[in-house]
Amino acid sequence: MVSILLKDCSWILTMNPPDKVLKNVSIYIEDSFIVEIGPAKPEAEYVIDCRGCAVMPGLVNLHTHAAMSLLRGYADDMPLDVWLKEKIWPIEEKMRAEDVYIGSLLSCVEMVKAGITCFVDMYWFSEEVCKAASKVGIRALVTCGTLDLGQPERAEKEIERVKKFLEFVKGLKDPKIKAGIGPHAPYTCSKDFLEKLRSIAEKEKVPIHIHVAETQEEQTKFEKEQGMREVEYLEKLGLLGPDVIMAHCIWLSKEELDIMAKYGVKVAHCPIANMKIGQGGVAPIPEMLRKGIKVGLGTDGPASNNDLDLLETMKFAALLHKLHLRNPAIMRAQDVLVMATRNGYEAVGFEGVKGVVEEGVKADIIVIDMRKARFTPVHEVSTVLSHLVYVAKGNDVRDVIVDGKVVVKDGKVVTVNEEDVLNLAQKTALDLVTRR
Ligand SMILES: [Zn+2]
Repeated sequence: MVSILLKDCSWILTMNPPDKVLKNVSIYIEDSFIVEIGPAKPEAEYVIDCRGCAVMPGLVNLHTHAAMSLLRGYADDMPLDVWLKEKIWPIEEKMRAEDVYIGSLLSCVEMVKAGITCFVDMYWFSEEVCKAASKVGIRALVTCGTLDLGQPERAEKEIERVKKFLEFVKGLKDPKIKAGIGPHAPYTCSKDFLEKLRSIAEKEKVPIHIHVAETQEEQTKFEKEQGMREVEYLEKLGLLGPDVIMAHCIWLSKEELDIMAKYGVKVAHCPIANMKIGQGGVAPIPEMLRKGIKVGLGTDGPASNNDLDLLETMKFAALLHKLHLRNPAIMRAQDVLVMATRNGYEAVGFEGVKGVVEEGVKADIIVIDMRKARFTPVHEVSTVLSHLVYVAKGNDVRDVIVDGKVVVKDGKVVTVNEEDVLNLAQKTALDLVTRR
């Protein structure tokens, strides 16, 4: 039995309700669960001194392609289609399973050090993403990326691949790894293919993760070809439900937002990647939140961000909408914190993990050392919420606990040798881009 005491936490952001902050109490964790929060300081195997620290639920990166870390900085500052067609796709064709493992391992190290305790992935060789996440000890919803481009033979093969992946995850027996299905987008998957994937998701009770309405060009072309918009189309073929995570969701009509609210669809908002592709448009996130749609935050892949720092994404999310809507009162610090924690965990649906710090829930917790110039002063409790959104960076995270186990201690990952991972990733990335 593993026990941990987070001793004398200066501030605990419980996130339930969003602005409830506890002061100068300790958290006792046993096995996977938070057992006690209060003044008592029971004996524990690991004692972590949390004086001067803010303690909060771990962050959820609701949309990424972890293995693309190998292509980080390889090609930037160019139009999306040129970036994809001339740079990314030719390299991805040469990617092998071991590349995906190493790229994912690198990303898992980067993410967990930055306080991300759970991520949602979409890529190929998804088995390797699972293995990397398992090795690092991070929670993951790994969705098997797939598309058929309207080719029936390809669709058939892809269906088999998806089914095989779902079986693989069952065999893993790691309660921190969940499987899902990741159809790339409505415009790269045929109607028939999406219907089949939906029925598999239904049967296997796994979530669906899909890109939706990322660029205006995509939206206009889709509407012209199908006679309806993407979300209307997905509703018509029966794909929508509370188990669907849609990434981006920029070019949507009011009617589409109503449909999404009706089905309880979850949204992964990726403001940094959206800004980087420079295609205009801002996802109508404040409107989604008003309609009760659960929105979480994502970094998108590390080749289109270019890092996996969700604290940075939180700040961008807060600022982008204030600028766009000329309203400094929207997307407040506590709203963004809810998106990064509770909403994210609700979307991934791990049993017992709620994105809150309270007794009886699973312990996915991060500790942020506030004894730094840029976190000074703290006027009142609400200042801590503000500092975490507007000041904190990933490398302010000092300790990370996932499922009741210490994964990062004093800023160092304890589950893998970081130096080895960096060396391996460097070597693999260079080999990949020069491979014939
Ligand atoms: Zn993406």
